[in-house]
Amino acid sequence: MENEDREPGNSYGSTSEMEAHMIQNSATRRTFIGSMAAAFGLARFSPALDIFAQARQRQAQGQGEPGEEHPDENYDEVAKLASNENCWGPSDAVVTAMKDAFKYANRYQYPDGGIVDAIAKHHGLKKENVILGAGSGEVLRIVDETFLPDHKRVVGVDPSYDSVYRHVTNSKAEVIKVPLLKDYRMDIPGIIREVKLNYRDVSFVYLCNPNNPTGNIIPKQEIKMLLDSIPGDVTVLIDEAYHHFVTNPEYATSVPYVQEGRNVIVTRTFSKIAALAGMRLGYGLAPKETIERLRAFGGGGLNAVVKYGGVAALKDAAYEKKIKQMTVELREKTCNELRAWGYEVIPSEANFFMVNVGKDVAAVAEDFKKRKVLVGRKFPPMNNWLRVSIGTEPEMARFMAAFKELFPAGGIKKEKKEAD
Ligand code: PLP
Repeated sequence: MENEDREPGNSYGSTSEMEAHMIQNSATRRTFIGSMAAAFGLARFSPALDIFAQARQRQAQGQGEPGEEHPDENYDEVAKLASNENCWGPSDAVVTAMKDAFKYANRYQYPDGGIVDAIAKHHGLKKENVILGAGSGEVLRIVDETFLPDHKRVVGVDPSYDSVYRHVTNSKAEVIKVPLLKDYRMDIPGIIREVKLNYRDVSFVYLCNPNNPTGNIIPKQEIKMLLDSIPGDVTVLIDEAYHHFVTNPEYATSVPYVQEGRNVIVTRTFSKIAALAGMRLGYGLAPKETIERLRAFGGGGLNAVVKYGGVAALKDAAYEKKIKQMTVELREKTCNELRAWGYEVIPSEANFFMVNVGKDVAAVAEDFKKRKVLVGRKFPPMNNWLRVSIGTEPEMARFMAAFKELFPAGGIKKEKKEAD
């Protein structure tokens, strides 16, 4: 609860200091890479340099892998509503378990608290159905590497969590992106159509449920329809990073499909409801044969401390319930206030939501930053939609105050809204 006690201060003369520091850092890195390139004649190998350039560009756009960004010390002063984290931090039981596990910090062959078994039992599965990752992001990467040899295709909606799609860009695979429907729901019939049309080349389907960045769900009937309609050898990867925040009865987890032995992989994370984003723990659930294929590409190398934290988090249902309740209450309060101020908000089932601000959000994010609020990056093609994560009550109040300063009551003009 640490952040709730802290009142937002209002002197943030440090935004520009932070920016200056970041610019200086990246300039230093550029100079370093530049001189290395010159020294070793790397200019000829432009693809390698391209990768550096792409990584820098992604970082500048806030699209880096979790943990890639290294903000300076002023980080603690800003309201971090940009990355869908859990602002309240892990439960006392989790912190205690992690502190106790520190006694293994000096060991290689440390016990793991029984994390794989705990996850398997939690879902009514066997250990052979579980793969761990340094965050579910690592599991997504492993799925990509396993299922996307050159020229294979992945099908998914657009926009969605783009880690899977980004990997595709870096390999010789391809992504078939199915646009969202007019009301921002995910177009499952559209995905089925694309899979059938490209059947020979499609390796897997990626579904994010609830979806990031929109926050809405795929109803359980539609997941069933998809699985029953596409060829059984096309794997369906269902990313349930935000599962714990859903209240809509139309939603259901896809874990039972793993129990049935269907060709699915379900990913979960301890980064959101359990508030362990900085500690890096997630997992994938799938039939045994799929897990064996995935293991060839990673899934080890996690630290002892987070494994004990994960076991404690799975047991702490009361804390999970409390976080869900606080998140949903603050989300609905903020969304209703924005609607009352005249702005369209997509109904969300996650710990974030999207609001239409009627102009490109890249500049808008800068305006919020000046007011000590970090908001989500741009998610093309929804360029005018701002994604906002749920923070503490004072942080959401700071966000609303900034929003009212930046956007007039009454909302954006109708013509502008229709152009989006
Ligand atoms: N999946 C979705 C939909 C996400 O939004 C995120 C991170 O924000 C991840 C996966 C990766 O999270 P982590 O690697 O922390 O588990």
